[in-house]
Amino acid sequence: MSSSSAWAIEQQSRKAFADLKVVCLAGGVGGAKLADGLARALAGDQLTIIGNTGDDFTHCGLQICPDLDTVMYTLAGVANVETGWGRQGESWTTLAEMTRLGGPDWFRLGDLDLATHLTRTHWLAQGKTLTAATAHLCAQLDVHPALLPMSDQPAPTLLETDEGVLPFQDWFVRRRWQPIVQRVILPADVKATPLVMRALSRADIVILAPSNPFVSIDPILNVYPIREMVADLPQLVVAVSPIIAGTAVKGPAAKMMPEMGFANSAAAIADYYADLIDLFVYDQKDAGILLANDPHQLCTNTLMTSPAERERLARDILQTAVQLLQETS
Ligand code: GDP
Repeated sequence: MSSSSAWAIEQQSRKAFADLKVVCLAGGVGGAKLADGLARALAGDQLTIIGNTGDDFTHCGLQICPDLDTVMYTLAGVANVETGWGRQGESWTTLAEMTRLGGPDWFRLGDLDLATHLTRTHWLAQGKTLTAATAHLCAQLDVHPALLPMSDQPAPTLLETDEGVLPFQDWFVRRRWQPIVQRVILPADVKATPLVMRALSRADIVILAPSNPFVSIDPILNVYPIREMVADLPQLVVAVSPIIAGTAVKGPAAKMMPEMGFANSAAAIADYYADLIDLFVYDQKDAGILLANDPHQLCTNTLMTSPAERERLARDILQTAVQLLQETS
């Protein structure tokens, strides 16, 4: 395609998406990549990302928010795409010295990454909310879509495993997600922030990113009244499968599906979200799968291996969603 016709198509679809308000519920790696694609397809004020804070924990006195940071670093173009966490061009002087001093080094924090946690912890110690601290960090890193923590209250995810109940990072990082998960324990009585509720109430389209359904998306939906708003408001709800041909692109989702009593397939993901979604997006490698409840479907390449592919997937999803909105209005 010539660059002028590519430009014309981009202008056309920008126009088609011009007045849309989109909310994306996102965990870490999969969520961050789709959020970045959406940010490339939409203007900054059209997109709000609601991030999972169920993985957050305090380490060496610092408040660490792994999923929010993965999204923020990805949108800022400074993420380490090989690891899926932390910053590119990172140095490890502090961690090496912590190891020498016998400090806790099981959770790897690079020098640049530490600056984020120090700044956030400082802001929280000044009495600011996590929402305000996140907005401050995003502004400094030139991130334009709103990145909202799902709540300003702590909402730690626990895993009931064959080795007992483990805090999320103990299971995920320290034990390298090997203990078999029997149940994910999510906290009761966690409330969404007013900004999260405002974004959801104004959204035309809500997208459940291709994130782990049990430990990335469920912790967000568990925050009152996010699930109720996603289910009841008239917006179009889209889910993107994190499972492609029975495997997870990264992380424990495929290992967890059978542990949690589900088939390891994109169809099982559609089933899991059946009561919420209008449109299910899954990979071309799964073409021909049968979906219960018959949601609208988009079967396409969902593997986002480059910024261009993130944007292409985002545009495909938005285009299909806009068509559905037009058909139902
Ligand atoms: P985590 O907190 O870093 O594990 O973040 P997420 O839950 O957002 O991301 C993990 C999930 O993202 C895994 O289940 C992956 O299969 C999925 N994922 C990562 N990259 C891609 C991608 O390019 N396409 C799709 N469809 N899923 C992806």
